[in-house]
Order: sequence, then structure tokens, then C-alpha cells
Amino acid sequence: DSKVILKDLESTNGTFVNGKKINLHSLADGDKIQVGNAAILKFSYQDDLEETFQQNLYQSATHDSALGIYNKKFFIDTFNKEFSFVKRNSTKLTLIMFDIDHFKKINDTHGHQAGDSVLKKLVESVIPQLRQEDIFARYGGEEFAIILKGKPLNQGLLFAERIRSHIEKTSFEFDEKVIPVTISVGISTFASDLFSEAPKMIENADKYLYEAKRKGRNRVECEFTKESA
Ligand code: GH3
Ligand code: MG
Ligand code: MG
Repeated sequence: DSKVILKDLESTNGTFVNGKKINLHSLADGDKIQVGNAAILKFSYQDDLEETFQQNLYQSATHDSALGIYNKKFFIDTFNKEFSFVKRNSTKLTLIMFDIDHFKKINDTHGHQAGDSVLKKLVESVIPQLRQEDIFARYGGEEFAIILKGKPLNQGLLFAERIRSHIEKTSFEFDEKVIPVTISVGISTFASDLFSEAPKMIENADKYLYEAKRKGRNRVECEFTKESA
């Protein structure tokens, strides 16, 4: 059972709890702390219910509710941060975007529920391949993004190829029917001469994803530059 102690470090204006000047005070639930003239802070011990509520709030704001991975908003926020970091520090940053091939046909042939189960199984198959620090997000309906912090292009390529071939080999089943699933992958690696802003690097990964589709799907495409290796 822990206590929170408030101490005034000989401040000019003093510290007040519930209107009384204090030097050292053991805080109780609901205590009102006055700092300076402008603000009163209400102290409260966080109960389990409140903690769960805060966690749920964070979870629903940052995650996709159907698949449990990060949502697009969290992806964009995180990517912007990582992009500014890599611009200031000489480290690497690789972005992988992938999209299920002919997903519309899967829905049309086997039904929307089958499509949903393919999405779930795909996410379950990708997660074990990730490192702790990789950010895996749902970018759109059946499009996904993975941020690889600190990884150069060649490592990103190996990783992308591993995921692509893993999905190709994974058996997707719904209602006792086997559904063949493949993905097309686009990769973009930070290079200072190519990307002035974060959205440009996302556009670039998307461009190579489109290139992979154009060249026949179930493949990985990227751009090689001197800097990216
Ligand atoms: P491509 O190989 O070019 O990517 O073709 P595609 O059919 O996968 O692409 P398209 O963009 O034409 O179709 C994507 C489909 O994915 C359309 C949409 O109804 C479906 N979709 C998006 N989100 C979901 C979802 O959560 N569940 C299901 N079952 N389908 C979804
Ligand atoms: Mg698709
Ligand atoms: Mg798509």
C-alpha cells in the first residue's frame, strides 16, 4: 500500500493543500493542491476501473478494432516522428507497404466473411515475423504498412521477401475451402536526396507497391539508390 508525499522545496509562494500551507504532506484522495495563484490540482489515486478505462481509450484511438494492429492515424503519427528523427540523425528507416492480390475476387468468390477471415489470418501470420520495435499497421481496407526503424534497404528487402513467401505458403481456409492468398509489396528507404517530407516517402512505397501489381503481383519492388543500401 503506497503513499504519495508532497514536499514544498522552499518555494516563494508556498504550496497549499485544501487551503492550508504545507511543507510536507501525505496526500489523500481528493486533496486540492494549490501551486501559485493560477491553478489547483486535484489529487486522486487511480483505481483499477479508471486505469482500464484509460487503457481502452488509448487502445481504440490507436488500433484497428477488427484486426487489433495499429490504425492509419497511429501509423502516420509514428512515421512522421521516425522520419524527422532519421533526417536529423544518420540512421536508417525503411517502410514496407503491402496489399492483398485480387482481394475483391476472394470476397466475390467466397463471401465477405471469408475475406474477413483472410485478413485476420494474414495479420496472425505476419506478427511472429516482426521485431519488438517494428510498427505494423492497417493502412486501408486490405493494405498494410510496416515501419522498420534502423533498417537499411537490403535488410528491408530480405524481410519483405520473407513475408511475401511466407504468405504464399500459408494455407488459408474458410468453410473447408482453401483460398490462395498472395501479396504485392512496395518498399521505400530513407534517402535525403529523395525525400524532403514524410508523405513523399509513403508515396514512394505506394508507387513501388503499384509497380509490383503492374509487373504481375505476388512480388516485391523497390528503388535502389547509393544512399539506401
Ligand atoms: P489488387 O490485386 O489490384 O489489389 O486487386 P484487389 O481486388 O485486391 O483490389 P481492389 O482495391 O479492387 O479491392 C479491394 C477490396 O477489398 C474491395 C473491398 O470491398 C475489400 N475490402 C476492404 N476492406 C475489407 C474488409 O475489412 N473485409 C472484407 N471482407 N473486404 C474488404
Ligand atoms: Mg488488393
Ligand atoms: Mg487495395
